[in-house]
Amino acid sequence: MIYCPNMHKNKKLLIAANWKMTPPTIQEARKKALLFKGIAKGYQRAAKAKASLQVLVCPPYPFISEIREIFRNSPALVGAQDVSEHDGGSKTGEVASTMLQSLGVSHVVVGHSERRSAGDTDEVIAIKLGQVIRTNTQVILCIGETVRDEEGEYLNAIKAQLKAGLARLSNADFSRVIIAYEPVWAIGRTDNVALSGHDLHQMVIYIRKMLRDLYNDSIATATKILYGGSVTPDNAEDIVWNGEVDGLLIGRASFEANTYEAICKNIALPTHSSMIMREAAMRKMKTIKNNKTKPSVDKSKEKVVKGMKRVKKGKAVRSAVSKKTKTR
Ligand code: PEP
Repeated sequence: MIYCPNMHKNKKLLIAANWKMTPPTIQEARKKALLFKGIAKGYQRAAKAKASLQVLVCPPYPFISEIREIFRNSPALVGAQDVSEHDGGSKTGEVASTMLQSLGVSHVVVGHSERRSAGDTDEVIAIKLGQVIRTNTQVILCIGETVRDEEGEYLNAIKAQLKAGLARLSNADFSRVIIAYEPVWAIGRTDNVALSGHDLHQMVIYIRKMLRDLYNDSIATATKILYGGSVTPDNAEDIVWNGEVDGLLIGRASFEANTYEAICKNIALPTHSSMIMREAAMRKMKTIKNNKTKPSVDKSKEKVVKGMKRVKKGKAVRSAVSKKTKTR
């Protein structure tokens, strides 16, 4: 764990739980929701925490209404895993965004790889995004490459998904957009292959560069980026703090409240080594301030800033990222 400049108490991380098609019954869903409600309270403003956490549960459609009632007057939020591209009428089996809004859904996931593989095209995803925005609800747009090739073609795939998915939005709509970067090859793995915090940081820089190219600086800076793909209690701290993301989208590790809570704990509560590094950095800052001396250059920060400068100049991180892939 290294000291990161964004490790501060004011940061609020969104920790979204994608329950997928679980649990099998409403009775189990109720029990689980009560546990998540407790977690949401505990990490809303935990003492000595690095950050406060916003718990968001995305259950299957039939459980949304009851879970919303359970979460009433608590900081826990309810989201949906998908939405119809249509706004109503003779569309058997579909659920409109207005319906979700009327249940108190705060966020809707769109473009999840499991929906893309069930037939959602970029065009359909763009329409769904528009439906969610129209109902004043936050949308979590999932993007991610299926494979990583040595030539860095996957970066173009991500750019294309981003461009197509956001195509129907105006700049003003971006206050409701969250991007979830979920490399498809990392979703649902049992062999611990989530992206490392370092590699994820490269992707976060790349996505922000794409947003800058497609829109503007303020959208590139302000848009929240989540990571999803085999997050576990063991890798969550590295992913969040070294990856510099604004939260997580967690699948299987959110099926059990205990595992989800372990992830929250490892993100929010400082480990011994990171605390020592943080305190040392704070002491150094205080000394610099008191002595009014020129701060010495922090090497790790210098590296990131150099990376950002390259990105700003228009040089994609392709070379850095593909070099990494080659060494794998
Ligand atoms: C997901 O389905 O969004 C996901 C990230 O799944 P998992 O955490 O199981 O890889």
